[in-house]
Amino acid sequence: MTKKIAFKTLGCRLNLFETDALVSECTKMDYHVVDFSQEADVYVVNTCTVTNQSDHKSKQVMNQMKRLHPDSLKIVTGCMATNYKEQLEQSGKVDYVVDNDHKTAITSLVENWFEGRTASPDSFEKDLFGYEPADTTFHTRSLIKIQDGCNNFCTFCIIPKVRGRATSRPAKDIYDNIKQVIAFGYKEIVLTGVNIGRYQDEDTNFEKLVEQILEISGDFRLRISSMEPDGFTDSFFRLFAHPKLTPHLHLCLQSGSEDILLKMRRMYTAELFEKMAVELRRLYPDFNLTTDIIVGFPGETEEKFQESIAMAKRLQFGHIHTFKYSVRHGTRAEHMPNQIPEKEKTRRSEIIRHLSDEMKLAYRKSFVGKEQTVLTEQFDKRGFAIGYGEHYVPVVIRQKGLEKNKFYTVILNGIEMQDEPVLTGLLKTQ
Ligand code: SF4
Repeated sequence: MTKKIAFKTLGCRLNLFETDALVSECTKMDYHVVDFSQEADVYVVNTCTVTNQSDHKSKQVMNQMKRLHPDSLKIVTGCMATNYKEQLEQSGKVDYVVDNDHKTAITSLVENWFEGRTASPDSFEKDLFGYEPADTTFHTRSLIKIQDGCNNFCTFCIIPKVRGRATSRPAKDIYDNIKQVIAFGYKEIVLTGVNIGRYQDEDTNFEKLVEQILEISGDFRLRISSMEPDGFTDSFFRLFAHPKLTPHLHLCLQSGSEDILLKMRRMYTAELFEKMAVELRRLYPDFNLTTDIIVGFPGETEEKFQESIAMAKRLQFGHIHTFKYSVRHGTRAEHMPNQIPEKEKTRRSEIIRHLSDEMKLAYRKSFVGKEQTVLTEQFDKRGFAIGYGEHYVPVVIRQKGLEKNKFYTVILNGIEMQDEPVLTGLLKTQ
């Protein structure tokens, strides 16, 4: 009998890493991994709880699962499952609620179920890093989890509650994992975690870890996913001179107002952030600096909101992820005075979204006439290969007969407006 299993992942790259590893493990155990819309024996939802919207989306998926697949095994895991564990266990919507600490036990739970046995997820050992290197995943890039949890306790953030204290994976395991996925044929490695800048394993901090990874032989490049602008030294930026480290960093600013950053209990000032950004651009003029900005944090007057806009305009980000401040139960900001009305948050997020679109277009236009090394991921309807350059810009290579998952040097010659501006180009000829 073919055992069919389906996965749905909400939220961040860390969740994607964990789902990829579970998918790969299930494939090795001869499960048939099917799309979530198809019939399966088992459904697993890896949830997110970073905002109210994430909770809402997670609930929607669970209701759909319950309605469409009453007889299948239904497992909910991830941050929303961890945040509302008791309620979900009592809801009767799912068979298992597996918190982040026990996610690695999911395949054992499923095996037990097929053999007619039930087990409590909490009866398994807590294991944050016990994931096998994934050879079969949904992505061209290989996500590598290096760290979990956070000790910063920003006043708006629920993550320390659902992902626990900052814990770093042994450096040796990370190097081995990366060597294995390179051997599997992956060409881009993405380091992920909750607060990766705070990575520390004995005397190996984040900078040293990156340095060591760049020494690993093989035809690959390294990308750093989202980072907090704290925990790394000034010399960190020199690492980006290495040809294998992609010149792109997503540094979460959150606000351009010193007062709001203090209220958020962020570990840096707007002035320091700006200094870092200017230094990065001095060293690497084309560097792609992207960021997150929260609008409508309690106490954010129009004037303080304008400080975020002014800073974004000065720093010209390659892209800005905009979040409307979302009250999270159990965080300090929940009880702060001067909460901003939803309508006003929406107005402010529209303004930042519009600004981000302008900056993204300007940044991508600046690459026309320049070169990018594109890792091909898929083909569009015209048969053209599409992928990302090292600066994390999307590119369509207007030539046929190319291969997937391969690096191509491309001369960029224009912009195509799709859902977002996409660069176009042709292969560089010798
Ligand atoms: S550093 Fe990031 S993960 Fe940690 S509490 Fe702050 S926002 Fe949350």
